Amino acid sequence: MIFGKHINKYYWKYVLLILAGLIALVAVDYAQTLIPEMYRMVIDGVDKGEVAVDGSLLVFDMQFVWERICVPMFFIIIFIVFGRFLWRICLFGSGIRVERDLRKEMFAHCELLSAEFYSREKVGNLMSLFTNDLETVQDCFGSGIMMTFDALFLGGLSLYKMFCMDWVMTLFSLIPMALMVAVSFVVGKYMTLKWEARQQAFSDLSDFAQESFSGIAVIKAFVKEFKELLAFRRLNKRNEDANVVYTRISTLLNVFVTLFVESVICIILGYGSYLVYVGTFTGGQLMEFIGYFNSIIWPVMAITELIEMHSRGKASLKRVSDLLDSESDVTDRDSAEVLQKLDGAIEFRHVTFRYPGADYDALSDVSFVIDSGENVGIIGKTGSGKTTVADLILRCYNVEDGTLFVDGKDVNDVTIKSLRNFCAYVPQDNFLFSDTIANNISFAVDEATEEDVENAAKLSDIDGNISNFAHRYQTMMGERGVTVSGGQKQRISIARALMKDASVLILDDSVSAVDTDTEKNILNNLRTARKGKTTVIIAHRISTVRGLDKIVLLDNGKVVDVGSHDELMSRCPDYRNMVALQALEEEGL
Ligand code: ADP
Repeated sequence: MIFGKHINKYYWKYVLLILAGLIALVAVDYAQTLIPEMYRMVIDGVDKGEVAVDGSLLVFDMQFVWERICVPMFFIIIFIVFGRFLWRICLFGSGIRVERDLRKEMFAHCELLSAEFYSREKVGNLMSLFTNDLETVQDCFGSGIMMTFDALFLGGLSLYKMFCMDWVMTLFSLIPMALMVAVSFVVGKYMTLKWEARQQAFSDLSDFAQESFSGIAVIKAFVKEFKELLAFRRLNKRNEDANVVYTRISTLLNVFVTLFVESVICIILGYGSYLVYVGTFTGGQLMEFIGYFNSIIWPVMAITELIEMHSRGKASLKRVSDLLDSESDVTDRDSAEVLQKLDGAIEFRHVTFRYPGADYDALSDVSFVIDSGENVGIIGKTGSGKTTVADLILRCYNVEDGTLFVDGKDVNDVTIKSLRNFCAYVPQDNFLFSDTIANNISFAVDEATEEDVENAAKLSDIDGNISNFAHRYQTMMGERGVTVSGGQKQRISIARALMKDASVLILDDSVSAVDTDTEKNILNNLRTARKGKTTVIIAHRISTVRGLDKIVLLDNGKVVDVGSHDELMSRCPDYRNMVALQALEEEGL
């Protein structure tokens, strides 16, 4: 059995199922201990022609065999079979339910964790937590309960019956068994460590495989397949080594168990035969004793297996608990209010921001105002802090009090969820799900009509391309479907954001991969469709921001100037240089 903060509650949750399983288990164990007595009756009956039953001697004839042996044995076997079926369903079923619940809890928790957590944790590691580790915990829960109670009840009952028959022989038999449990206990601690190492090696392997498959195009383009293969081989070997070490210890433990069990059989046969020889035991009683001993082999093995399983379960539960205990560093304050509406005014007031763990500020003393309903461009070189501005508006990271405001309210005083509810975002990587185009576009809206989806696609100038696909809006995207160009991906992502019709729309470098005519179309459509709502367009091309109400020029995390295109052209040399440079580049094309 396995205990811990995150699993104890499930013993209560499934108490009825567990109790039903335990009642069936105990009944089956009891029925099992009735069989050795029948061995005694048959052997003594065959030997002497009469059998002692409850203190009186009965004649051993065919009627006795039928009534006292065959019929009861038949019903006991039927009872055992059905009982086993029942406890398996109940106990293993509770384990499977716990796995499902924990997985649900982990997934819900993962969704709350901040961007910083995901930049630290690798996807492969998370995947192995959701599969390997959870499976181990499930195994320890269902099988753990079964083995603990089986060992306690079947072992206890058989031992009691053995003690009643001959306590000296029982003590002799127990010495190697006690040694075996002691060895398992010591080895178990070592096995926990080795299991942890094994799980970590598997996580690293999954991480590597996941990253290689995601970056397969880059690997092929740079002809680095062999280098990747060598790196994979190294990790695969490390995983193999960790497995071998663990399996070696576990096999060694098994060999010890067999050795101890077999040595007990020798003791029973030797000492038992002596007892028969001196007349203390009949042959049938020796058989009965061996029958009880056979019944305790499994419980004792279960104890050693339990120790091994516990080691694995503890290591996996620790990894699962670490995930469930990791807290999001971006959370709501108790006093945070739920935003009921957002007009879309945003103010950065002397914002200085450094990413967690970074050595330098991504933004320093950044101040600018976006009035509600304005179309604002944020422009600057790569690394100047444009995406960071979007990250902070969307509260992906924490900002200091009194530095960032929405509709005049400090962002720290409003709940993160309600703020994000009023925002739509087109991220730089334009991630699309492996789903239909329609479902990708309507992702943010629960009950979107076909017409809404098509309208959004028209606004982002992708409707024409989608119409060329055989299944139009029902075309599957990604791994199981079509692969679209970077520009098409950007436009589908824009359509997805437009579907939300949010008070604030942020586009992060979202038209960089489309040609200038398409860009013009999209920007015109945005202007009309989002009239009166705030739109923030992050870009590196002047053509994208030229016609917007306001442009914020960033350089090296600092605001160089804020104004319309004409204002910046007249007073900002950096902006003028940028315009001139881009004009030269375009001419060069
Ligand atoms: P831009 O969007 O203008 O290209 P970013 O806002 O993405 O620039 O980045 C601004 C600076 O912050 C860069 O120097 C970048 O390296 C750094 N940065 C961005 N994201 C992170 C992160 N998650 N952790 C640490 N540093 C980051």
